[in-house]
Amino acid sequence: MRFSGLRVIGEALTGHRGWKPLWRSPDPQPAYDYVIVGGGGHGLATAWHLAHVFRQSRIAVLEKGWLGQGNVGRNTTIIRSNYLLPSNQPFYEFALQRWERLEQDLNFNAMVSQRGILNLFHSDAQRDAFRRRGNAMILSGADAELLDCDGVRRMYPWLNFDHARFPIRGGLLQRRAGTARHDGVAWGYARGADQAGVDLIQNCAVTGFRIAGGRVLGVETVRGFIGARKVGVAVAGASGQVMAMAGLRLPIESHVLQAFVTEGLKPVLDGVITFGAGHFYISQSDKGGLVFGGDIDGYNSYAQRGNLPTVEDVVEGGMALMPAIGRARLLRSWGGLVDMSMDGSPIIDRTPVEGLYLNAGWCYGGFKATPASGYAFAQLLATDNPHPTAAAYRLDRFARGLMIDEKGAGATPNLH
Ligand SMILES: Cc1cc2nc3c(=O)[nH]c(=O)nc-3n(C[C@H](O)[C@H](O)[C@H](O)COP(=O)(O)OP(=O)(O)OC[C@H]3O[C@@H](n4cnc5c(N)ncnc54)[C@H](O)[C@@H]3O)c2cc1C
Repeated sequence: MRFSGLRVIGEALTGHRGWKPLWRSPDPQPAYDYVIVGGGGHGLATAWHLAHVFRQSRIAVLEKGWLGQGNVGRNTTIIRSNYLLPSNQPFYEFALQRWERLEQDLNFNAMVSQRGILNLFHSDAQRDAFRRRGNAMILSGADAELLDCDGVRRMYPWLNFDHARFPIRGGLLQRRAGTARHDGVAWGYARGADQAGVDLIQNCAVTGFRIAGGRVLGVETVRGFIGARKVGVAVAGASGQVMAMAGLRLPIESHVLQAFVTEGLKPVLDGVITFGAGHFYISQSDKGGLVFGGDIDGYNSYAQRGNLPTVEDVVEGGMALMPAIGRARLLRSWGGLVDMSMDGSPIIDRTPVEGLYLNAGWCYGGFKATPASGYAFAQLLATDNPHPTAAAYRLDRFARGLMIDEKGAGATPNLH
């Protein structure tokens, strides 16, 4: 079934009785060529690219709960490619270029909105750092503009310019960045993968790996053993737990990251803003709620809910930046389980177990990576060759001292 404007009009006139479920609910087969563990954004995008780009078949995605229950449906939906390092910037620019064609690729409205992101700076040193980052972005084919204080004031006159503890000096603007409807992305990839014959199996937690002679033979699940030629793990915050079942210890900590939304307001914020003197980022959803977040809670956890001190810390950041936010009422908050790597960059690589592959370490920012991560992981699974933009995301880089530390912050998860 293809979606189109005519179809929507036709269904509206006939009581919406023609819509079908977006994907099947098949029982697992005894064996597949490819088993992807985790039905989040990255797992679903991997399956989609395996089927549509690399023309592979006999693929299953095994999801512990329901598709999109994890971080892909819990994030603050920001997409951007404003990175500095040569190992990161081309990968995220590749992702942004794939976001730009995503809805055509999927024939699905994922509400990709290139409304721009503005990273504010508050000191001369920060301006220098942002100028350098903007130049690196331009060199990789991305767009970047440096605004002075007046430029920012023209865009957002209601920010706290005049009486702020950290006066706004300007900002780095990427106009092609923006937001996308997070769970729509999961649904679009799921529908497209299902249409290409991928089995999407929900309520099917992986409980172990069957490994013989250093090679993976398949996965143990709550629905029995499922054989596989290759297994790709993309379980975000559960990466440490799941890979421990294969005897691997990862350079990753699991942390709670919270997000918040206010009651619906009239349009006030047409882009995404990040505060440069604290950790706070904000946009306005199409329903009118201000959507924002800040730091991780800061202790290791597998709980998908956070604590009040972090709520206070995040809204303090909001108040410092835009005091008017104090008049809005908070409608909801929630938490997700993020996989914080020790240098803030991801891992897309083989593991020491033959046939077992890992996609993890997405920290605060794996949503924006989804289309590129799915492409690169599918390429690695299908061909055993890394995608050129993801070639540095090796699992052994921590042992070899080749960290990709965007902020130079060291092995401190909350600073990445
Ligand atoms: C509050 C919050 C805000 C964020 N904001 C942004 C943002 O604005 N921009 C951005 O780029 N990124 C953001 N992120 C990060 C981003 O959401 C994640 O990095 C990304 O979604 C992780 O990849 P995923 O979608 O595959 O993960 P998930 O959606 O978490 O998928 C992993 C799946 O694996 C499943 N699973 C776990 N264990 C097993 C098992 N044993 N067997 C089978 N399945 C299993 C889980 O149930 C889950 O569905 C945010 C994250 C949070 C929590």
